[in-house]
Amino acid sequence: VETSRQQLQSELSRAGVDFKLEQPLAPMTTWKIGGPAEILVTATDQEQAGNALSLADRFSVPVTFLGGGSNVLINDAGIRGVILKNEIQGIEVVSSDQNTDNIINDQTSGTTPQARLQQVDINEYYDFSELDYDETGAPRVFVTVKSGTSLPFTINNLISQGITGLQWFAGIPGTIGGAVLNNIHGGSHFFSEFIETVTVMDLKGNLRTISKDELGFDYDYSALQDNTRFIISAKLKLYQGDKNRAQQTAILWAQNKKKKQPYNTAGCCFKNILPEEMRRLQLASNSWGYIIDKKLGLKGHSIGGAKISELHAAFIENIGQATSADVLVLLDLIFERSQKILGITPKTELFFLGFEPGTISKFTN
Ligand SMILES: Cc1cc2nc3c(=O)[nH]c(=O)nc-3n(C[C@H](O)[C@H](O)[C@H](O)COP(=O)(O)OP(=O)(O)OC[C@H]3O[C@@H](n4cnc5c(N)ncnc54)[C@H](O)[C@@H]3O)c2cc1C
Repeated sequence: VETSRQQLQSELSRAGVDFKLEQPLAPMTTWKIGGPAEILVTATDQEQAGNALSLADRFSVPVTFLGGGSNVLINDAGIRGVILKNEIQGIEVVSSDQNTDNIINDQTSGTTPQARLQQVDINEYYDFSELDYDETGAPRVFVTVKSGTSLPFTINNLISQGITGLQWFAGIPGTIGGAVLNNIHGGSHFFSEFIETVTVMDLKGNLRTISKDELGFDYDYSALQDNTRFIISAKLKLYQGDKNRAQQTAILWAQNKKKKQPYNTAGCCFKNILPEEMRRLQLASNSWGYIIDKKLGLKGHSIGGAKISELHAAFIENIGQATSADVLVLLDLIFERSQKILGITPKTELFFLGFEPGTISKFTN
């Protein structure tokens, strides 16, 4: 009797969807950690993604989405089911709007994420505030970007066309899909400031375009994190701004980040604590880089191939052959110490893929 996995594979082949079995996932992540994908589908267009999703749904095989792999911890045992790797790429300038009257209205109606991020970091960490400027008076331009397009490529490509706004996110790896799902932040800016609509595909392969207001954007959060929709594209509302200034800003921003943040990581592991909490605990900063270094004394601590970064202690580096098990032990140590010393529980900003819920429930509170 054919299993549902075998049936799925035959149907994928019949539909012309390329897939590979037991493919290593570590090379597809910035952390270079994680075991194989049981069934890896690399989608380069919407149709392939739709076929993979609807067939997986028909045979009740679970699907996991993967973008640039810059914010995930993948289990050493790998991920079972279909892994849909997103390589749907393209940038299209839709229209420009010379009417600056609209802009004033937009600013008043726009939703600003909860001001959780306090730039009280001591200089040792990072402070880009001197690079910040306001371009909200510039004419608007609408651009549709497909979700598998690299964020750094998108920023450079648009600025070279004189389309600005995304310079604050220079130096952040990953895809547009990941940037939307996480509502990434750069300095005082959030990605959601620039989102107009997002087109998603549900688990049966049906398309839907959702307006920004329905997506509940907040600090490192969007409703899309429920993993029930695959992001296909985002319509962004950008500026016809100062090209040279945006270019310079992007270069400096990326350079500064590179100096202070290691790349062999999955980004910052923890969300900044609330400003009230910081004041209650009489801390000089609400960043976990500061807390792990100065309060928990764990900067530079390592387990196996995983090390709490000397550059920024909220980053865990893979200094060689790190495993997901090594990272979980380090996370556990940070959790235990912060509960014991400060009485607070960190909130992780990582996505854990391929784990049994019980193994990671402590870290996904
Ligand atoms: C050196 C470094 C610096 C970083 N700096 C920052 C920073 O300054 N600010 C910041 O906010 N983040 C930062 N990050 C974190 C990370 O780069 C971002 O969160 C990025 O947006 C993740 O995108 P990705 O495509 O790599 O997503 P992935 O890591 O591939 O996936 C993350 C999650 O999104 C889901 N996902 C991915 N694509 C889709 C899709 N198309 N549809 C539905 N779900 C999807 C995945 O299933 C997973 O749960 C940094 C990371 C590194 C390594």
